[in-house]
Amino acid sequence: MTFLVHYGELALKGDNKRMFEDALVSNIEKQLGEGHFSYVKRLWGRILIEGGDAEYIKNALSHVFGIANFSLTEVCKPNITDIKDSAWSLAQNRQFKSFKIDARRAEKTLPFTSQDINMQVGAYIQEKSGAKVVLKNPDLTVFVEVLHDKVFVYTEKYKGPGGLPLGSSAKVISLLSSGIDSPVATWKIMKRGAVPVSVHFHSYPQTSRESLKNTQQLLGVLNEWSAEPLALYAVPFLDIQKFIITNAPAKLGVILYRRSMVRIAEMVAKQEGAHALVTGESLGQVASQTVENIAAVDQAASLPILRPNIGDDKSEIIDLARKLGTYEISIRPYEDCCTLFVPEHPETRARVGEVKKIEGRLQPELQKLEKKALKEAQKNPAD
Ligand code: ATP
Ligand code: MG
Repeated sequence: MTFLVHYGELALKGDNKRMFEDALVSNIEKQLGEGHFSYVKRLWGRILIEGGDAEYIKNALSHVFGIANFSLTEVCKPNITDIKDSAWSLAQNRQFKSFKIDARRAEKTLPFTSQDINMQVGAYIQEKSGAKVVLKNPDLTVFVEVLHDKVFVYTEKYKGPGGLPLGSSAKVISLLSSGIDSPVATWKIMKRGAVPVSVHFHSYPQTSRESLKNTQQLLGVLNEWSAEPLALYAVPFLDIQKFIITNAPAKLGVILYRRSMVRIAEMVAKQEGAHALVTGESLGQVASQTVENIAAVDQAASLPILRPNIGDDKSEIIDLARKLGTYEISIRPYEDCCTLFVPEHPETRARVGEVKKIEGRLQPELQKLEKKALKEAQKNPAD
């Protein structure tokens, strides 16, 4: 079985392009796993895969970032007779009343053009099948792609996830709750090539361990898009929450929790060699996600905080969560640390100066608690 892979990001040039292609080949090999392919190789701006089990390979390729689309393909020599045979070998197993041939030719030195292929192969299939050629929405499209000394003939294009190969962007720290938004944000940043190390804050034993278990399951779903298991830090956050809620105005609680989370995440970033933080916020979705409050949280970090969901409606985030398979896990009714000690009337327009002043009064204890939380954090806890 031969698969032909197309990748996007045409703007990539020079060294970047080479790095992108090498990363993509290596990620495809890892995602397929040893024993499932005989080769994965680059070929004229495409990738060619030879392997055994078509369904297995299809599923694996649909989880490799950087792939725009892929096809199970026939391969033949660059002459019209062979192309006709390959096209008919695919078409004869199909039910169709209308069809078209969609030929492309990267190799311009051959004695026939794309149009010649369309006409001659089209006439041949018509004669064999009795179906008619229709250019708009035919029942069957036979794609013919002529590349140098090889011709690829296929009838289905399967969508890949698009984006950039995982690992081709810097490592990031993802603040992963067990909610709907942050798993989606984490997936989006993976799609752009960044490997996330997730940090989950839990309020055990005040809450059950279910929110941690849920987070681990969410990570399990995200792992489908990564050949290597993604890391998770579970950070105890209860002492910090209790300390903040007893020593600061209730309405600033959420902002102060977030600032603590961000500082701890930044310490994890240092340990892990990560260069940005990621959260699931969307502008205006809840009281804590106003521009003013986002600014007050940003000021606690020196690394950039990426917010891939920032312009999304909740319904768009939910649609994607459903597609990915995180939604059903996220909506389980378990308490997460953030449903604890949340004030009834949270500040919606925090002033950074005021937040910093109040936070100043919590020092040096707050900092000590944050360091302690990091020390007690478990990396990849067993469930
Ligand atoms: P989510 O659906 O991701 O839980 P949310 O809509 O509940 O987000 P907030 O509670 O304001 O929004 O949280 C904003 C962001 O802060 C989250 O998207 C996540 O990145 C981070 N965050 C919140 N709670 C936690 C937690 N317990 N552990 C790690 N990160 C968290
Ligand atoms: Mg939440």
